[in-house]
Amino acid sequence: MQAEAALSSHTSVRKVIPIIPYSVKGRYRNVKSIILNIAFAIYFFLPWMPWENDSGAGQAILLDIQHSRFYIFNLVLFPQDLMVLLGILVFAAILLFVSAAMFGRIFCGFFCFQTLWTDAFRFIEKWIQGEAQAQKRLRNAPWSAKKIALIASTHALWLLLSFATALTFTLYFADAGKLLGDIFAGQAAIAAYITISVLTSTTYVAAGFAREDICFVACPYGKFQGVMQDPSTVTVIYDRARGEGVKGRQAPTAQLKTPQSRQEQEFGDCIDCNYCVNVCPTGVDIRKGFQIGCISCGLCVDACNNIMDSVKLPRGLIRFDRDENIKETDQGMKRWSRIKRGGYMSMLAASAIFTWHLASSLEPYTAIVEQGRQPLVTQLSDGSLRNRYQVRITNKTGERETYHIQTSGLPEGSFRGWQRIVVPAGKSYTSDFSVSLAGPMAARTNRFSLTITPEKQPGAAKTQEMSFFAK
Ligand code: SF4
Ligand code: SF4
Repeated sequence: MQAEAALSSHTSVRKVIPIIPYSVKGRYRNVKSIILNIAFAIYFFLPWMPWENDSGAGQAILLDIQHSRFYIFNLVLFPQDLMVLLGILVFAAILLFVSAAMFGRIFCGFFCFQTLWTDAFRFIEKWIQGEAQAQKRLRNAPWSAKKIALIASTHALWLLLSFATALTFTLYFADAGKLLGDIFAGQAAIAAYITISVLTSTTYVAAGFAREDICFVACPYGKFQGVMQDPSTVTVIYDRARGEGVKGRQAPTAQLKTPQSRQEQEFGDCIDCNYCVNVCPTGVDIRKGFQIGCISCGLCVDACNNIMDSVKLPRGLIRFDRDENIKETDQGMKRWSRIKRGGYMSMLAASAIFTWHLASSLEPYTAIVEQGRQPLVTQLSDGSLRNRYQVRITNKTGERETYHIQTSGLPEGSFRGWQRIVVPAGKSYTSDFSVSLAGPMAARTNRFSLTITPEKQPGAAKTQEMSFFAK
């Protein structure tokens, strides 16, 4: 029985029994399917999404590790902008903490990659082998041509989806069309083949075999989630008082057909049909109370609501609710929960503001000016002294930009070099220039200013103090 596979809150040992959950229809199943479709559409489509700007990336998302550049729509991130990525990661981590404290394992049940891919694998399994009962019969049946064909085609489609997942992952790191052609022509980098092989096999094993064991054994989030939960956390709850009544659960017999007769005979509303356990992907019996194996997927809520409809009892025997709404909770504990939630929300707001500030104050370009050291000073045939410099401008915008270079504190004609530099989007350009001064002027000049002004964003002009050496 699947309930045996549930991890009781009183034990850390879980019996590993292959779980074949029953299908269920309902609100949460629909929400999960919608999220699955949206997530797959985004994941598989994004590398192919064309994005026209001057950066030359050609695709909306390109994580160009080779050239240390991330192209995200019109944003081009360079290594010096990694604080923005760090800010986004910190925000995501705090969001996960907040969601754990307020809504339990809702992320696990609806959004986690492991849950989404396992769900997709289960859809394939059901499509080929039929409902849970048919799958169980097939497993127990002796080997035959039909059994081999059904199991082989299930595994073939699993492998195909795993391969598509791995292949798509690599396309985020290069020109998708070119890399795809290179991969099938055998001309891609060895790293691409290794990545595809490793990801194909891990996806196949994780979603096809390990499934929710990953949630129990490997997932660190699942481990600390229980610590963050308190009576004000919204989780999947079985209304024990209503379900058990005075005399406990009871299947609907001839004498217990109406809600009134159940109430009069003091039986609870749970008809002990076990449907909530049979649909559970982790094999949890939620009627035993909160368990670490529950990923808050809501499928048992759908199952029980369907049963309640069929026996004409009110829905919500199993529901998303707060423990404090069901059991009497200490006022001190409620106050502490409110303080905790306020703290989490403040941290979330602070990290969002910080990340927004970092992203909005990204510089549209970088300019590094270095003085030539060997030799520091050159004496020309007319007796004037020359210092050499090199300017490197990196255009961090998604558009071609023209940069104007001006000096102040130098006599006219002493600057030799390009004063107008055009840099394509996302590219760097290096230009040499020199300053030559006649002897007496050179002796009087040891500093001058260099200003670089981007044509489209003159407000982002940068001025740098430069040195001039006469000896
Ligand atoms: S689905 Fe509802 S009625 Fe059936 S066993 Fe579960 S809690 Fe009881
Ligand atoms: S107990 Fe219910 S909510 Fe929890 S994992 Fe099982 S089906 Fe999902």
